[in-house]
Amino acid sequence: MSIRTLLLLLIAVPAVVIGGAVALGIKFPIPDWGREYVLSFVIAEEPPAFSLPEIEGPDDPDRPLVVIDAGHGGRDPGSVSGNVREKDIVLAIALALRDELLANGGIRVALTRDEDKIVPLADRPEIARQLGADLFVSIHADSAGELDEISGASVYTLSSEASSEAAARFAARENNADRVNGLIIEGQSDEVSAILVELSQARTQEDASEFASLITREGRGEIEFHPTAPRRSAALAVLRAPDVPSVLFESGFVTNETDRTRLTSEEGRRQYAKVLERAIRVYFARRLET
Ligand code: ZN
Repeated sequence: MSIRTLLLLLIAVPAVVIGGAVALGIKFPIPDWGREYVLSFVIAEEPPAFSLPEIEGPDDPDRPLVVIDAGHGGRDPGSVSGNVREKDIVLAIALALRDELLANGGIRVALTRDEDKIVPLADRPEIARQLGADLFVSIHADSAGELDEISGASVYTLSSEASSEAAARFAARENNADRVNGLIIEGQSDEVSAILVELSQARTQEDASEFASLITREGRGEIEFHPTAPRRSAALAVLRAPDVPSVLFESGFVTNETDRTRLTSEEGRRQYAKVLERAIRVYFARRLET
């Protein structure tokens, strides 16, 4: 049998069988599945992107709330020098700061992470926003590669260009559904929303700058700051909340021996925590006065 005959049979036989059956009025049973055969997954209305951390401290919502953010975590170790990893150091400082704040009372505290785990960058300021935080402190440690003489802490705030850009983006994103610093932007035109967010952002940045200055003031003589640039600004995603004053504290360089010793010792970490705690208390005390 040639290939051609075989192909002809393969096509012709079913055609004749089906054609004959149709001609004779025989009906093939066709399963009626309706839409049941479509696999459907039930997706929650709005699945929360992350679970909010617990708020510790006084059970009084009027007390100021600070969100402490230990940088990196999980498979992101941050800066590394030998067996010293930024993610461990900054978590230890964050926990020390929490303990210091809770021990002396009056301030509520939440941590974006209290263990070695990944928290996406964008979630960190969002956690602070959703908890209604009054202040956000992100704690990091730096690396200078081979330049092991570079040392000292520095405090970052959001650069003004990044700040306006973030405000514009935020206004676009949150236009219909939010309030910023008590300003209701829902139902406002895009232009008005953008202006309101810009104003809110400007005030937030002023507060952040003041807090950053307090850290350098309270830290003077206590911890070593970067000799030329203890205060900096940069386009840091973690500082982009338009309504929560936010700073990023670079505690020191894991690549510098003196810094590394301080960063890895309990006593050294308590020193950092105490400086940050005092700056936080002064910051909130000033707000109670006005
Ligand atoms: Zn870092």
